[in-house]
Amino acid sequence: MNIFEEVKGAKTIGISGHIRPDGDCVGSVMGLYLYLKKICPKAKIQVMLEQPADIFSCIAGVEEINSDFEPITDCFDVFIALDCEKTRLGEAEKYFDHAGKKINIDHHISNATGCGDVNFVVPTASSASELVYKVLEDKSQIDAEIAKALYIGIIHDTGVFQYSNTAPETLEIAAKLIAYGFDFPKLIDSTFYEKTYVQNQIMGRALLESILFMDGKCIVSMIDKKTMAFYNAAPHDLDGIVNQLRNTKGVECAIFMYETGSLEYKVSLRSNGELDVAKVASFFGGGGHVKAAGVTMQGTFHDIVNNLSAQIAKQL
Ligand code: AMP
Ligand code: MN
Ligand code: MN
Repeated sequence: MNIFEEVKGAKTIGISGHIRPDGDCVGSVMGLYLYLKKICPKAKIQVMLEQPADIFSCIAGVEEINSDFEPITDCFDVFIALDCEKTRLGEAEKYFDHAGKKINIDHHISNATGCGDVNFVVPTASSASELVYKVLEDKSQIDAEIAKALYIGIIHDTGVFQYSNTAPETLEIAAKLIAYGFDFPKLIDSTFYEKTYVQNQIMGRALLESILFMDGKCIVSMIDKKTMAFYNAAPHDLDGIVNQLRNTKGVECAIFMYETGSLEYKVSLRSNGELDVAKVASFFGGGGHVKAAGVTMQGTFHDIVNNLSAQIAKQL
């Protein structure tokens, strides 16, 4: 895909990504936004996205994100969904549905065919940000701010080049991006590793209360609404907990969940080995990647663990 060819002539362009935007979502959306603003100076381009976490305020243009999700008056000529399929666009889904032309760029295996009129879905790609880099035809238009946004997306989805989705091409693209000369060690620290005191406290609590089961092959932990309220924590304050659980020796599957409503939990799944967690999440209506997936589930904590265990046991 060449993004310029796809948006050529459009007077209005909308860009969005998934609810609870993570680093790849914000990075790919903002990288594409900054690029399109340069190559389509006459078009009205808008990012319609939930407000990203404060750590992403280092990305140029985040203050221009529109999170109001007003009712549609004029349909977008082109609307681009990044890092998800349309049902995870949340309130931005209506803009996608009514757009003159729908474009979907994603790397989730659970979104095999894509949901746009034009699709660029590559499940083997490390991140949507890597795919955005590829569709930017005129590389001479890339600048340090665009490179920074895309680099953030790549480091977040690869766990700083640690996860198995890191391919030689991922590193080649990252090498090209850091050549633009931004302070990448600081970016990695401030957006990926650094935690606030409260975030560390909740992580400590989740680790303390974690439970091993299936002969130590699985680990689960949960944070309820009361605890989140006690720490005044938002969902993004829980980022990283599931990865820490996954680091437990002997564990093949890590499960972390937090309460989102009455008898409703957002579940994160991580695999350390052969287990395909996208399959497990998809069974319950969620999705993701082979080694990292998510789903929202109904029931008590114990019901959910039992239901997940049955699906995990089928594979282990
Ligand atoms: P999370 O556990 O929320 O960090 O998600 C892990 C991966 O699965 C990310 O790539 C998410 O974009 C994806 N994911 C999470 N929840 C869902 C869902 N309900 N449907 C599809 N993909 C999801
Ligand atoms: Mn994402
Ligand atoms: Mn992603």
